[in-house]
Amino acid sequence: MKEIRFENVCKSYGKTEVVKNLNLTIKEGERLILLGPSGCGKSTTLRMIAGLEDITSGSLYMGDKRVNELPSGKRNVGMVFQNYALYPHMNVIQNITYGLKVQKFPKDEINLRTDAALGMLQLKGYENRLPKDLSGGQRQRVALARAVVKQSDYFLLDEPLSNLDAQLRVSARKELVKIHELYKQTFVYVTHDQVEAMTVGDRIALMYQGHLQMVDTPENVYNRP
Ligand code: ADP
Ligand code: ADP
Repeated sequence: MKEIRFENVCKSYGKTEVVKNLNLTIKEGERLILLGPSGCGKSTTLRMIAGLEDITSGSLYMGDKRVNELPSGKRNVGMVFQNYALYPHMNVIQNITYGLKVQKFPKDEINLRTDAALGMLQLKGYENRLPKDLSGGQRQRVALARAVVKQSDYFLLDEPLSNLDAQLRVSARKELVKIHELYKQTFVYVTHDQVEAMTVGDRIALMYQGHLQMVDTPENVYNRP
């Protein structure tokens, strides 16, 4: 089971509790949106799944394993960051393939996956460009490609579209859903944008000041009293 389960998870920075007694199950293969205003704890929640933040108390399970102590590199996650976090000195191909090389995937497999991702994300012809010579939309697609080629069980996205202009954002949402339908990973997506949450999510987890307020379908969240 590739589900993610938070049990009574709290996260503090010093004396400030930023995630408060979180109980949440993210189902295998669903697209779960973490939605809420800036500072409510969405990113921290996602980073705990990625293994980029320690958990102060409680338990986090991924699959049937308690992962509180499991290092990030062993969690089988692909992640897309808001600012993409591309390696500035590496070209498009190098950015996309770096993680697979570190994991010592066979060259043929790397080429196969990379070629598919380049095609799907319309990056053919840009293989040798550095990030600084790409448009914002292209950088975003390189970040997606880099996560996609890992074919990980969990796909984590932190405001992946917030640096795109409105028009690109609309097409990128569709692209994301298409990618997910192809790979069916357990998909966790952070946004503060309600429209984005509605169009991308199977379910929405609404957060406010460190609390989970409700988890439900977009329709039910939208029609809440
Ligand atoms: P969101 O993603 O919803 O905007 P975050 O999870 O990034 O919210 O942040 C939640 C709260 O935790 C905010 O009040 C933020 O200022 C605080 N915070 C985040 N990272 C740190 C940190 N490294 N040290 C101290 N406080 C932090
Ligand atoms: P290396 O560090 O092994 O010389 P590169 O960084 O040049 O490799 O390329 C990384 C991987 O991507 C290699 O496996 C290579 O075969 C593949 N690759 C390089 N250029 C392209 C391209 N234009 N299209 C598809 N795959 C490529």
